[in-house]
Amino acid sequence: MDLAAIGSLLGSLKTATEIAKLIRESDATLEKAETKLKLAELVSAIADAKLDAAEVQQLILDRDETIRQLTAAAKLKTEIKWRQPCYYLSNSEGLEEPYCQNCYDSEQKLSRLHSDGKGFFQCRVCRQGYKTAERLKRESDDFNANMKRGRRLF
Ligand SMILES: [Zn+2]
Repeated sequence: MDLAAIGSLLGSLKTATEIAKLIRESDATLEKAETKLKLAELVSAIADAKLDAAEVQQLILDRDETIRQLTAAAKLKTEIKWRQPCYYLSNSEGLEEPYCQNCYDSEQKLSRLHSDGKGFFQCRVCRQGYKTAERLKRESDDFNANMKRGRRLF
């Protein structure tokens, strides 16, 4: 937080307090015009204090939002699990869902992956595709078996 904003707020409040004291202590001795002038200064000092207070309030809200984001990021870091080729995170029902490694590693963005249920995952955000080691092995085995049989794949 910008501590200058708090200093400014305290300065405005001090000025307002001093003017109010002056008016209270010298009410009988001040001319009516002088009293009016001092009251105008007091109103102005209070207005400054209100602006400063609003700035401090905004700084506190900004800081709260930063704390909320950092807390969420720290919590996510402890909960997200890496199992090649995807990140996994439990949903509200306790079921693990796969997330894109590319999106999370590059932008800390959680993008759900779509799966064919046979070891292939695709991110609809960055279009990256992922295959499990089992899927790659199965595809390699199928390819080799077809080559042995002399069949052309393409
Ligand atoms: Zn992605």
